Amino acid sequence: MMVAASVGSVVWVLCGLVLMVVLWKSGMAALHALSAPPAPPPEPGELRKLNVRYRCDVCGVELKMMLAPDDDPPPPKHCLDEMIVVAPLYD
Ligand SMILES: [Zn+2]
Repeated sequence: MMVAASVGSVVWVLCGLVLMVVLWKSGMAALHALSAPPAPPPEPGELRKLNVRYRCDVCGVELKMMLAPDDDPPPPKHCLDEMIVVAPLYD
């Protein structure tokens, strides 16, 4: 009877400790999330996903840019002229 009671209390103490650690960890994570900037800028050299279509005004060819080093890359050239943006799709 006494042994069973002491084992039960040890289990409860362990549960309490685990719960405390979990709460403390999640609390610290929440604090970190609140104090951290919402969207840190990506590393230089890291490519950004894009979905922008360009069209050559001279010959009419169209292409889609899917990766670029930044969000607003300079338009590619075709037929010795800069291509025009057809439909910037942000999805
Ligand atoms: Zn062209």
